Amino acid sequence: MVKSFKKKLLIGALSAMVCCSFAYEAEAANHAEVNPMAVSQNVDYLVFVNKTHKLPDDYEAKLPLITVKNSFGREFQIEPETYRHFEQLRAAVKQKGIQIELDSVYRSVARQKEIVAEFTQKYGADYVKQYVAVPGYSEHHTGLAVDICLVVDGKIIDDNDEMIAQKEIFAQIHPLLAEYGFILRYPQGRENITGYSYEPWHFRYVGIETAKKISGAGLVMEEYMK
Ligand SMILES: [Zn+2]
Repeated sequence: MVKSFKKKLLIGALSAMVCCSFAYEAEAANHAEVNPMAVSQNVDYLVFVNKTHKLPDDYEAKLPLITVKNSFGREFQIEPETYRHFEQLRAAVKQKGIQIELDSVYRSVARQKEIVAEFTQKYGADYVKQYVAVPGYSEHHTGLAVDICLVVDGKIIDDNDEMIAQKEIFAQIHPLLAEYGFILRYPQGRENITGYSYEPWHFRYVGIETAKKISGAGLVMEEYMK
Protein backbone atom coordinates (compact mmCIF):
# COMPACT_ATOMS: atom_id res chain seq x y z
CA MET A 1 0.00 0.00 0.00
CA VAL A 2 1.64 3.27 0.96
CA LYS A 3 4.98 1.53 1.29
CA SER A 4 5.01 0.72 -2.37
CA PHE A 5 5.48 4.32 -3.28
CA LYS A 6 7.10 5.40 -0.06
CA LYS A 7 10.24 3.62 -1.10
CA LYS A 8 10.62 5.84 -4.09
CA LEU A 9 9.14 8.98 -2.64
CA LEU A 10 10.24 9.41 0.91
CA ILE A 11 10.01 13.12 0.47
CA GLY A 12 7.67 16.04 0.33
CA ALA A 13 4.01 15.33 0.68
CA LEU A 14 4.44 11.92 2.19
CA SER A 15 7.13 12.58 4.73
CA ALA A 16 4.51 13.52 7.31
CA MET A 17 3.11 10.01 7.22
CA VAL A 18 6.14 7.83 7.35
CA CYS A 19 8.20 8.62 10.41
CA CYS A 20 8.52 6.15 13.16
CA SER A 21 7.90 5.84 16.86
CA PHE A 22 5.84 7.98 19.16
CA ALA A 23 5.92 9.48 22.58
CA TYR A 24 4.52 7.22 25.26
CA GLU A 25 3.33 10.07 27.41
CA ALA A 26 0.71 10.78 24.76
CA GLU A 27 -1.10 7.56 25.58
CA ALA A 28 -2.50 8.33 29.01
CA ALA A 29 -3.69 11.78 28.03
CA ASN A 30 -5.34 10.54 24.88
CA HIS A 31 -7.03 7.57 26.49
CA ALA A 32 -8.53 9.78 29.15
CA GLU A 33 -10.56 11.55 26.48
CA VAL A 34 -12.10 8.41 25.06
CA ASN A 35 -14.89 6.44 26.63
CA PRO A 36 -14.04 2.76 25.99
CA MET A 37 -17.70 1.76 25.83
CA ALA A 38 -18.46 4.38 23.23
CA VAL A 39 -15.45 3.18 21.28
CA SER A 40 -16.51 -0.44 21.19
CA GLN A 41 -20.08 0.50 20.29
CA ASN A 42 -19.14 2.73 17.41
CA VAL A 43 -16.39 0.82 15.69
CA ASP A 44 -16.95 -2.15 13.44
CA TYR A 45 -13.73 -4.01 14.10
CA LEU A 46 -14.56 -6.37 11.26
CA VAL A 47 -14.98 -3.66 8.67
CA PHE A 48 -13.83 -5.26 5.44
CA VAL A 49 -11.90 -3.16 2.96
CA ASN A 50 -9.90 -4.35 -0.01
CA LYS A 51 -9.49 -3.54 -3.69
CA THR A 52 -13.11 -4.51 -4.38
CA HIS A 53 -14.74 -3.69 -1.03
CA LYS A 54 -15.08 0.01 -0.38
CA LEU A 55 -15.04 1.53 3.07
CA PRO A 56 -18.69 2.08 4.11
CA ASP A 57 -19.63 5.71 3.49
CA ASP A 58 -20.63 6.37 7.11
CA TYR A 59 -17.58 4.71 8.65
CA GLU A 60 -15.22 7.63 9.02
CA ALA A 61 -17.81 9.89 10.64
CA LYS A 62 -18.21 7.36 13.48
CA LEU A 63 -14.55 6.49 13.85
CA PRO A 64 -12.95 7.65 17.10
CA LEU A 65 -9.33 8.63 16.58
CA ILE A 66 -6.65 9.61 19.01
CA THR A 67 -3.53 11.45 18.05
CA VAL A 68 -0.18 10.11 19.16
CA LYS A 69 3.03 11.98 18.66
CA ASN A 70 6.15 10.25 17.51
CA SER A 71 9.58 11.00 18.88
CA PHE A 72 10.34 13.24 15.91
CA GLY A 73 7.31 15.39 16.67
CA ARG A 74 5.15 13.91 13.93
CA GLU A 75 1.67 12.73 14.70
CA PHE A 76 -0.32 9.63 13.88
CA GLN A 77 -4.03 9.19 14.19
CA ILE A 78 -5.28 5.79 15.24
CA GLU A 79 -8.38 4.09 16.66
CA PRO A 80 -7.91 3.87 20.45
CA GLU A 81 -8.35 0.10 20.96
CA THR A 82 -6.01 -0.57 18.07
CA TYR A 83 -3.41 1.68 19.67
CA ARG A 84 -3.83 0.12 23.12
CA HIS A 85 -3.31 -3.35 21.70
CA PHE A 86 -0.45 -2.21 19.51
CA GLU A 87 1.31 -0.91 22.59
CA GLN A 88 0.93 -4.31 24.23
CA LEU A 89 2.21 -6.05 21.14
CA ARG A 90 5.12 -3.66 20.96
CA ALA A 91 6.03 -4.45 24.57
CA ALA A 92 5.84 -8.19 23.95
CA VAL A 93 8.04 -7.86 20.89
CA LYS A 94 10.50 -5.74 22.84
CA GLN A 95 10.90 -8.59 25.32
CA LYS A 96 12.37 -10.56 22.45
CA GLY A 97 14.86 -7.79 21.85
CA ILE A 98 13.05 -6.45 18.80
CA GLN A 99 12.01 -2.84 18.34
CA ILE A 100 8.96 -2.06 16.23
CA GLU A 101 7.51 1.38 15.64
CA LEU A 102 4.40 2.76 14.00
CA ASP A 103 5.19 3.82 10.47
CA SER A 104 1.86 4.52 8.79
CA VAL A 105 -1.59 4.29 10.31
CA TYR A 106 -4.81 6.18 9.58
CA ARG A 107 -5.25 8.01 6.32
CA SER A 108 -8.57 9.67 5.51
CA VAL A 109 -10.37 9.16 2.23
CA ALA A 110 -10.06 12.91 1.69
CA ARG A 111 -6.28 12.76 2.16
CA GLN A 112 -6.06 9.82 -0.21
CA LYS A 113 -7.88 11.89 -2.83
CA GLU A 114 -5.33 14.67 -2.36
CA ILE A 115 -2.48 12.18 -2.73
CA VAL A 116 -3.98 10.86 -5.96
CA ALA A 117 -4.30 14.40 -7.31
CA GLU A 118 -0.76 15.38 -6.28
CA PHE A 119 0.81 12.23 -7.61
CA THR A 120 -1.14 12.27 -10.85
CA GLN A 121 0.22 15.74 -11.50
CA LYS A 122 3.78 14.81 -10.54
CA TYR A 123 4.11 11.27 -11.85
CA GLY A 124 1.21 10.61 -14.18
CA ALA A 125 -1.90 8.48 -14.09
CA ASP A 126 -0.13 5.19 -14.86
CA TYR A 127 2.12 5.54 -11.85
CA VAL A 128 -0.81 6.36 -9.61
CA LYS A 129 -2.77 3.38 -10.88
CA GLN A 130 0.11 1.08 -10.01
CA TYR A 131 1.21 2.45 -6.63
CA VAL A 132 -1.51 4.54 -5.02
CA ALA A 133 -4.63 3.05 -3.44
CA VAL A 134 -7.93 4.22 -4.85
CA PRO A 135 -9.60 6.54 -2.29
CA GLY A 136 -12.10 4.53 -0.26
CA TYR A 137 -10.37 1.22 -0.92
CA SER A 138 -7.36 1.38 1.42
CA GLU A 139 -7.45 -0.47 4.71
CA HIS A 140 -5.60 2.49 6.21
CA HIS A 141 -8.91 4.40 6.11
CA THR A 142 -10.23 2.17 8.89
CA GLY A 143 -7.90 3.40 11.64
CA LEU A 144 -7.42 -0.28 12.46
CA ALA A 145 -4.47 -0.98 10.17
CA VAL A 146 -0.88 -0.29 11.13
CA ASP A 147 2.28 -0.45 9.12
CA ILE A 148 5.31 -0.91 11.30
CA CYS A 149 8.97 -0.31 10.70
CA LEU A 150 11.86 -1.97 12.48
CA VAL A 151 14.70 -0.38 14.34
CA VAL A 152 17.75 -2.60 14.11
CA ASP A 153 21.02 -1.51 15.71
CA GLY A 154 19.67 2.01 15.88
CA LYS A 155 18.83 2.10 12.18
CA ILE A 156 15.28 2.46 10.92
CA ILE A 157 14.32 -0.21 8.43
CA ASP A 158 11.26 0.80 6.44
CA ASP A 159 12.15 0.05 2.85
CA ASN A 160 9.96 -2.67 1.34
CA ASP A 161 12.77 -4.97 0.22
CA GLU A 162 14.83 -4.46 3.36
CA MET A 163 11.82 -5.24 5.49
CA ILE A 164 11.02 -8.41 3.57
CA ALA A 165 14.65 -9.49 4.00
CA GLN A 166 14.27 -9.42 7.81
CA LYS A 167 12.78 -12.90 7.83
CA GLU A 168 14.11 -13.97 11.23
CA ILE A 169 12.73 -10.89 12.93
CA PHE A 170 9.29 -11.16 11.38
CA ALA A 171 9.23 -14.88 12.16
CA GLN A 172 9.35 -13.86 15.82
CA ILE A 173 6.81 -11.07 15.53
CA HIS A 174 4.07 -12.70 13.47
CA PRO A 175 3.22 -15.54 15.90
CA LEU A 176 2.49 -12.91 18.58
CA LEU A 177 -0.04 -10.91 16.56
CA ALA A 178 -3.24 -12.82 17.33
CA GLU A 179 -2.61 -12.65 21.07
CA TYR A 180 -3.02 -8.89 20.78
CA GLY A 181 -5.88 -8.89 18.31
CA PHE A 182 -3.96 -8.40 15.08
CA ILE A 183 -3.72 -10.43 11.91
CA LEU A 184 -1.07 -10.32 9.23
CA ARG A 185 -3.33 -8.91 6.54
CA TYR A 186 -1.28 -9.72 3.42
CA PRO A 187 0.57 -12.97 4.05
CA GLN A 188 2.98 -14.69 1.73
CA GLY A 189 1.40 -17.15 -0.66
CA ARG A 190 -2.08 -15.63 -0.42
CA GLU A 191 -1.51 -12.79 -2.86
CA ASN A 192 -4.12 -14.09 -5.28
CA ILE A 193 -6.80 -13.89 -2.58
CA THR A 194 -5.85 -10.62 -0.85
CA GLY A 195 -4.89 -8.82 -4.04
CA TYR A 196 -1.69 -7.56 -2.38
CA SER A 197 1.94 -8.62 -2.42
CA TYR A 198 3.38 -9.97 0.80
CA GLU A 199 3.53 -7.19 3.38
CA PRO A 200 5.16 -8.47 6.58
CA TRP A 201 4.69 -5.01 8.13
CA HIS A 202 0.94 -4.47 7.66
CA PHE A 203 -1.08 -5.58 10.70
CA ARG A 204 -4.85 -5.28 11.00
CA TYR A 205 -6.64 -5.10 14.33
CA VAL A 206 -9.79 -7.25 14.43
CA GLY A 207 -9.96 -8.08 18.16
CA ILE A 208 -8.31 -10.97 19.98
CA GLU A 209 -11.04 -13.57 19.54
CA THR A 210 -11.39 -13.00 15.81
CA ALA A 211 -7.65 -12.75 15.25
CA LYS A 212 -7.17 -16.14 16.91
CA LYS A 213 -9.93 -17.67 14.77
CA ILE A 214 -8.53 -16.26 11.53
CA SER A 215 -4.89 -17.09 12.13
CA GLY A 216 -5.68 -20.37 13.89
CA ALA A 217 -7.49 -21.57 10.78
CA GLY A 218 -4.78 -20.23 8.47
CA LEU A 219 -7.24 -17.93 6.75
CA VAL A 220 -6.99 -14.45 5.35
CA MET A 221 -9.71 -11.90 5.97
CA GLU A 222 -11.21 -12.40 2.51
CA GLU A 223 -11.91 -16.05 3.39
CA TYR A 224 -13.12 -15.33 6.90
CA MET A 225 -15.60 -12.68 5.74
CA LYS A 226 -17.20 -14.92 3.11
ZN1 LIG B 1 -0.26 -0.83 5.16
